[in-house]
Amino acid sequence: MTLASVAATPTATFQALKCKECGAEYELKAQHVCEYCFGPLEVAYDFSKLRGRMTREQIQAGPNSIWRYRDFLPVATDNPIDMGTGMTPLLQAKRLARRLGLKHLYIKNDAVNMPTLSFKDRVVSVALTRAQELGFTTVSCASTGNLANSTAAIAARAGLDCCVFIPSDLEAGKVMGTLIYAPTVMAVEGNYDQVNRLCSEVANTHGWGFVNINLRPYYSEGSKTLGYEVAEQLGWELPDHIVAPLASGSLFTKIYKGFREFVDVGLVADKAVRFSGAQAEGCSPIAQAYQEGRDFISPVKPSTIAKSIAIGNPADGVYALDIARKTNGQIESVNDAEIVAGIKLLAETEGIFTETAGGTTIAVLQKLVAAGKIDPDEKTVVYITGNGLKTQEAVQGYVGEPLTIEPKLDSFERALERSRTLERLDWQPVLV
Ligand SMILES: *Cc1c(COP(=O)(O)O)cnc(C)c1O
Repeated sequence: MTLASVAATPTATFQALKCKECGAEYELKAQHVCEYCFGPLEVAYDFSKLRGRMTREQIQAGPNSIWRYRDFLPVATDNPIDMGTGMTPLLQAKRLARRLGLKHLYIKNDAVNMPTLSFKDRVVSVALTRAQELGFTTVSCASTGNLANSTAAIAARAGLDCCVFIPSDLEAGKVMGTLIYAPTVMAVEGNYDQVNRLCSEVANTHGWGFVNINLRPYYSEGSKTLGYEVAEQLGWELPDHIVAPLASGSLFTKIYKGFREFVDVGLVADKAVRFSGAQAEGCSPIAQAYQEGRDFISPVKPSTIAKSIAIGNPADGVYALDIARKTNGQIESVNDAEIVAGIKLLAETEGIFTETAGGTTIAVLQKLVAAGKIDPDEKTVVYITGNGLKTQEAVQGYVGEPLTIEPKLDSFERALERSRTLERLDWQPVLV
């Protein structure tokens, strides 16, 4: 590894790591906490090279992945790890909109992101590309499930050694979706916050690249692409309102940063975008602070089916709070039954099977509309961040069952008649 590969190249836009609290600047190495005030470090850029020069056409001529926005991301290489991550569909959701009473509703569908069907592929593609630039040969993460899937898959592709840490009570699909790539998997008997604390200690002693710990400043920048893509896919325009799930709060703050950067370099016109966040009631420290008018987060012990967003002590919680407040958005929470209903509603109206985080977001959307907090005329984008095939336990017992029949026409006809009778009786699976 040469020194030049570690530092930003002269043409690169990313310049330093900068403390979000005190503004102290650091070299572009693997570090996430300020040595003076313990604030979080963020990547600082010099966009003067792009301002007024970077064109929409240049971006559109780039790869059909997050790497079309490479000049806005903290990597120096011309050959980033590209598994086709990003550029997921932005779908106009007409049937869901009609059901809710909205006029202009869009779904950003990261349930079909590549390679592991969640938005985490964005952050990991950036983190592991940077990890290679910094000379790491072993990568790791503290995960609620999706991050482990993504880190293991993309590390396999890049030929990096991988060891991931997860809480031991994760859904079967999340565990298998990691094991298949043959990393070392540590199932920790504890919740995510305990996993994260353990990983901070390991990061200090082992010299590994933890995507969401010492590489966090680079990792988190990957979420900006959720902002860039929506702006591009809306025809180079910002929406009026976005609704997104909150775990650590990082993704939410980076969508905001992505929109601001596109305005800054002149790719889209400025506009006031409202930012609303979704949490599960069983783990809603940010929503509670929002509702109680507090500007600090009181950590909670998670208990919800929405495990992928169950972070009791969210690292970027206060920044998410601040964005929701200053943009005139909302932060709401919903209970587990509402989350299941949200998953089903999205599936039945739009043909998208999302996981519990997506169910949370849809249920919060519904709650905000019912409370008059979303104007039907607003162009609203809902971020669906993960895939339902990974959390099948959540809907087990809340969907219908196949009609088992003999391989004979009359058996089929009888079953069809029976199912129509059930429909006439307005049969619904019971939600408990
Ligand atoms: C990790 C995750 C989130 C939230 O991420 P943060 O950036 O920590 O807020 C949302 N949805 C899904 C499916 C996730 O896996």
